[in-house]
Amino acid sequence: MTTLVIAEHDNVTLKPVTLNAVTAAALLGGDVHVLVAGHEASAVATAAARIAGVDKVLHVDDITLAHSVAENMTEQVLALAAPYSHIVFSATASGKNIAPRVAARLDVGQISDITRVISPNTFERPIYAGNAVATVQSTDATCVMTVRSTCFMAATQTGQALATTENRAPVAVPGHTMYVGQDIVKNNRPDLGAAKVVVSGGRALGSVEHFNALMTPLADKLGAAVGASRAAVDAGYAPNDWQVGQTGKIVAPDLYIAIGISGAIQHLTGMKDSRVIVAINKDPDAPIFKVADYGLVADLFVAVPELMAAFDELKD
Ligand SMILES: Cc1cc2nc3c(=O)[nH]c(=O)nc-3n(C[C@H](O)[C@H](O)[C@H](O)COP(=O)(O)OP(=O)(O)OC[C@H]3O[C@@H](n4cnc5c(N)ncnc54)[C@H](O)[C@@H]3O)c2cc1C
Repeated sequence: MTTLVIAEHDNVTLKPVTLNAVTAAALLGGDVHVLVAGHEASAVATAAARIAGVDKVLHVDDITLAHSVAENMTEQVLALAAPYSHIVFSATASGKNIAPRVAARLDVGQISDITRVISPNTFERPIYAGNAVATVQSTDATCVMTVRSTCFMAATQTGQALATTENRAPVAVPGHTMYVGQDIVKNNRPDLGAAKVVVSGGRALGSVEHFNALMTPLADKLGAAVGASRAAVDAGYAPNDWQVGQTGKIVAPDLYIAIGISGAIQHLTGMKDSRVIVAINKDPDAPIFKVADYGLVADLFVAVPELMAAFDELKD
């Protein structure tokens, strides 16, 4: 039994989610190989070979793999898939784009968003927006799965490469899809998915001006990423990629501060695994308080400035 983990990277740096995917792969038992498919990404292959628990790194270098175009990545994964019992992707936008194509072409079912490995073919995954946990068993020859990173510890990286690295030839790609460009929002804050502290604002902020005036300085003081409820995003207070929840990002920081967020199940599913949850809401019956470790029943327009003043006092 051997598992192939598909590494996520930007040709320079290995994304932390790959470390979580390796942990999930190691729980399956058997050998763990990591595919680094990219262009001029040898630094990433070296980093992958330093992940504890990885036995081999497959490195494929080609210009067609420079931007992780799903169609091209699919061909590359399929070309290498034959010996593997499991093919593991992170449940990210990229992983969720490639994994179903690979599963369909292998004529197997995809097992999505696994949160626990029970045995090599039996897994847990959330359903109904996290209201229930399904135990699923695969009877397919190859298990193609996506892994919820927040449910698996990051594998450690060793000082030197323990795994062997093999260079593999790139395959021909369909050519009907090509990379044109990308428009990346520049942000000095930590990445929402990987931040240790997240401050999230909800509909109660009332306007983009209030959202920026309260959430941004609070996040600055805590070195936090900013998140938002869907209501706040839909109302235009925050950009789409800040949304936390079922149809947004799944986060599990050390500290999650929910401000003016009611705690609808679709929001909770994206943050309830956070280590410490703090909620500020003026309604004592708001459902967010059911998952909060610390709850403050207060008007956010009073409480947040007070909180910031208290942080300033602590610093002095
Ligand atoms: C298929 C589907 C997918 C969805 N996906 C997501 C998702 O990914 N993420 C997500 O967040 N939602 C999602 N939703 C929407 C979700 O159901 C809720 O509508 C949304 O989370 C509500 O956002 P909110 O808590 O900001 O707003 P509200 O529910 O309106 O809550 C606002 C809260 O602010 C409090 N409040 C008001 N004024 C103040 C004040 N001055 N001080 C303090 N507190 C105050 C109120 O008491 C209330 O609890 C989804 C819904 C569906 C149907």
